[in-house]
Amino acid sequence: MKLDLDAYVEGVRTQRRAVLGRALTLVESDLRRHRELAQDLLARLLPDTGGAIRVGITGVPGVGKSTFIDALGMHLLEAGRRVAVLAVDPTSGRSGGSILGDKTRMARLSRDPRAFVRPSPSQGALGGVARKTRESILVCEAGGYDVVLVETVGVGQSETEVAAMVDCFLVLMLPNAGDELQGIKRGIVELADLIAINKADGDAKPAAERARKQYEGALRYLTPIHPEWSPEVRCVSALTGDGVPGLWARVEAHRSALEETGALERMRADQAAQWMWRAVEHELSSRLRSHPEVAALAPSLEAAVRDGTTPPTQAAARLLARFGLDV
Ligand code: GDP
Repeated sequence: MKLDLDAYVEGVRTQRRAVLGRALTLVESDLRRHRELAQDLLARLLPDTGGAIRVGITGVPGVGKSTFIDALGMHLLEAGRRVAVLAVDPTSGRSGGSILGDKTRMARLSRDPRAFVRPSPSQGALGGVARKTRESILVCEAGGYDVVLVETVGVGQSETEVAAMVDCFLVLMLPNAGDELQGIKRGIVELADLIAINKADGDAKPAAERARKQYEGALRYLTPIHPEWSPEVRCVSALTGDGVPGLWARVEAHRSALEETGALERMRADQAAQWMWRAVEHELSSRLRSHPEVAALAPSLEAAVRDGTTPPTQAAARLLARFGLDV
């Protein structure tokens, strides 16, 4: 059955799961006619949004994200929370399958009617997937979910994208920190409000404790993102559940600290403004690339730039001129 705008709004507000699922499908859609309806829907739902604690969760494949989210989600449900889980996986829908989508994940949570677990929207550029997820957060909030967990694979830019759409960013690490501290993971550490060393169980406990101290040391050299919060490192076991409630208590402490000073509100306002510009840039760039005359000229110009026979800026100016822009 086709739903009209009022039916979507009413269904989401009255927390009907089936309608919520369809509303998410609508905001994930790339079709122009869906986009228009999706924008109207988001505008109508906006007054009912903003009520959730938004938490981003990242970590390399195998660190235990789905096991952790399952444990955390069940803990939150038992505490009377309504939990939605969204995923950002730019590899989703590409040939060869996605990193986050291939196995049965979050076995308990995904079957619990009190929770809502949504796989990553498929297709394409990270900007597109991230845009959809950002809008999905709003739909979930309007649907009464008061905790939204956004999971992302620890590859490339997706952490930065997710950090820019949540209140609290949680990074899961493995007990054998070692080289990770030196390398690319440093960039992730800089985004973290909380770091959890997962798999701190059995024989791995001493290594986890060492890793905790190492990360704590590394954090000391970084300037905190918010003056009211110093990032913390804790050991957890997603498998046994040890440390999971304690970690959530720190998410809530982070939230309170930011709320008290008005930092949360300011951060969300900044994120929304930043998002507006990202959306403008995304649209401009996709229009430009799909413009027929630009598309016709682009390959030869790109070849000339690669050959070194045309300066890149001159080629750029010619492409923009085809699009109707004088530079
Ligand atoms: P993801 O790829 O980050 O989602 O990782 P998974 O949640 O799928 O976990 C990868 C593997 O690590 C699985 O075999 C899990 O059972 C295991 N695992 C996850 N959390 C823990 C933990 O806290 N302790 C131990 N010992 N194993 C864990």
